Amino acid sequence: MRDADLAMYKAKADGKGRLALFDVSLIEPLGSKLQLEADLRRAIGEGQLSLAYQPLYQLEPYRLLGFEALARWMHPVCGAISPAVFIELAEETGCIEALTRWAIEEAARQHMIWCHEAPHLGELVMHVNVSGKDLAKPDFVANVQDVLERHAMPARLLLLEITESVLMEHRDTALRALAELRDLGVKLGIDDFGTGYSSLAYLSTLPFDCLKIDRSFVIGMQRSTQNLEIVRTIVSLARTLNKDVVAEGIETHEQLVRLRQLGATIGQGYLLSRPLQPAQISELLLEPAVAPP
Ligand code: C2E
Ligand code: MG
Ligand code: MG
Repeated sequence: MRDADLAMYKAKADGKGRLALFDVSLIEPLGSKLQLEADLRRAIGEGQLSLAYQPLYQLEPYRLLGFEALARWMHPVCGAISPAVFIELAEETGCIEALTRWAIEEAARQHMIWCHEAPHLGELVMHVNVSGKDLAKPDFVANVQDVLERHAMPARLLLLEITESVLMEHRDTALRALAELRDLGVKLGIDDFGTGYSSLAYLSTLPFDCLKIDRSFVIGMQRSTQNLEIVRTIVSLARTLNKDVVAEGIETHEQLVRLRQLGATIGQGYLLSRPLQPAQISELLLEPAVAPP
């Protein structure tokens, strides 16, 4: 069974609709992957996962708008494992539903604590990443509703981020779930925008509230005028469609200045703040930055 499993991994890794034959060379590198998968299942059950929170800022006038919750896994033996690795693993193996369920619950719980700690900051939004597989689950929306009710969290303060490529892959199932979430009052955002080859016709049918410009365009802005023009176009597209636009991955002053010139309204990135631990956010709430760094 293990060998069959390994061959299946190989086939999946090579693309859709492939065949792969088992051979012993598959054991070495992938053996650890199977172990990692078992570890991940345990990690979700045993509370080895945590959330870091990266602040989101309105750029003009500068003020804290809320946070994006980012999953972290401290493996007992291997140490910190990148979400780029374990999220993909969770999606492949079906653990993602449990992970997302946990992340939404934990983010909502934390959000209500901060609302009580910092009522003077007004309403803070909480962004949580969800995967396309989540949206295909029939009980996903009911679960979100249940979490909101139990934590007395207003639906408008939860924003679910879905990557553009996932939206393209899971068109029909996603659309139904998105409409139901919208009816609940939950906000929706398209993550890594610009990387997924969306058609504008399709995009305009989606009930989302915000576009997040992929970090690669923000980084590329200074290097190529083409990237600069892409960012300009996304900002103006968002404005035309009446959506918020968030620029991800702002690392330098020059990028921040440029983005403001282009009319980007919301920013996120290491220059403004790295992802922080909950205790650090509680401190930040006492004295939120009034001017950009
Ligand atoms: P994302 O949703 O696009 O999240 C932004 C990523 O960019 C985060 O990486 C964040 O730490 C990083 N980042 C933010 N500002 C900067 C910057 O100025 N420079 C650079 N170089 N990076 C910056 P992270 O935490 O490693 O997350 C990677 C991806 O993993 C996320 O990308 C998201 O797609 C996924 N992910 C994380 N947590 C979850 C989760 O709970 N559920 C799901 N489904 N996916 C998650
Ligand atoms: Mg995100
Ligand atoms: Mg992103």
